[in-house]
Amino acid sequence: MPRPAPRPPALPSVAPVERRRLRSRLLRWYRRCARDLPWRRTRDPYQVWVSEVMLQQTQVRTVEPYFQRFLAAFPSVQRLAESSLDQVLLAWQGLGYYARARNLHEAAKIICRTRPVRWPTDAAAWQALPGVGRYTAAAIASIAFDQPVAALDGNIRRVLARLAAVREPADAPAVQARLWRLAADLLATASPGDFNQALMELGARVCTPRAPDCRACPVLNHCRAARAGLQRAIPVRRPRRAAPQVSALAAAIRHEGRYLLLRRGPRGLLAGLWGLPTVETPGPCDDPAAVLRQAVRPLTGLRLRSPRLLGTVSHVFTHRKLTLTVFEWALADRAPALSAAAPAAAWLAPAEFATRPLSELDRKALTLLGGEARDALQRRAAPGAAVLA
Ligand code: SF4
Repeated sequence: MPRPAPRPPALPSVAPVERRRLRSRLLRWYRRCARDLPWRRTRDPYQVWVSEVMLQQTQVRTVEPYFQRFLAAFPSVQRLAESSLDQVLLAWQGLGYYARARNLHEAAKIICRTRPVRWPTDAAAWQALPGVGRYTAAAIASIAFDQPVAALDGNIRRVLARLAAVREPADAPAVQARLWRLAADLLATASPGDFNQALMELGARVCTPRAPDCRACPVLNHCRAARAGLQRAIPVRRPRRAAPQVSALAAAIRHEGRYLLLRRGPRGLLAGLWGLPTVETPGPCDDPAAVLRQAVRPLTGLRLRSPRLLGTVSHVFTHRKLTLTVFEWALADRAPALSAAAPAAAWLAPAEFATRPLSELDRKALTLLGGEARDALQRRAAPGAAVLA
């Protein structure tokens, strides 16, 4: 029988008096030095929720303009719930990780089932909504509703791992469980929202991944990693596996100056987004145009002729690197008759490309058409704008 992996040692406990000092130093620093961010000027659950979802895996600087535009387009949860998925994805375009936008839209519809809207107030109820994990639920419940729940995101995990000098990989499940307990242990229950945000702020601005500025740190006296000179060595990371390479082919099918765009199905990385008919291949192939022509027929019902290689683009997703080779095609038949099995489809002039929510990959692919297409894609459609039928 395989022997179980050794359990990492428990984190050192923090004496009550040290906990009190750490909390008050951290909160004082946060109230004096915190950045003035739009979502920090409010405790409105809708705005706090939108900001927390946008901030998942995305930097504050990137989120700020998206947050403002999104709220201008969807000023309330009701407006968000009543909007189409296309409108929501269009407003999200460029922010990436589109599952966040789809889940936000889905959750808005669930929240709006009760009229007047009754917001969930505790973390468990938030976590029951699509796209809301343990961290996001805790952040919203503590910031918007003063619920005494600890939060642990990447920033907080790094800060706590250093405060406690954790020498095992901080993203290992057993260590994470201990860090969640430490976060709960340290939480300032009288101001849980500020305390959680103070830890996030400290991680984002002082206790940064590569160069923690310990001299400016309000909790330096409590930090075991700094005391041991280990602040740059912690958190320990598990080795990452290289992202696999994937190849795909896309068809820019032209008909009377317009191109065929399809809406992707409801599942997968780019679900709900529009793009060129695309097919993944096991690797580079000898005759990519023939492979593409054959794959497009059952997908759309269209017969293609005269392929022209437009070029190749690549895009890095979180878990894989994709190389897409794009061909422009003419139609073999005069009147295109799309098959009934084709997903939602639209023939769009290049000037209309920006009216559809497109993934970054498809924006790059369509830019290969050059001229009007490139200019149109450089202009952003207004978030919440009507989608052309
Ligand atoms: Fe991070 Fe340094 Fe502060 Fe410790 S003293 S929490 S390592 S910034």
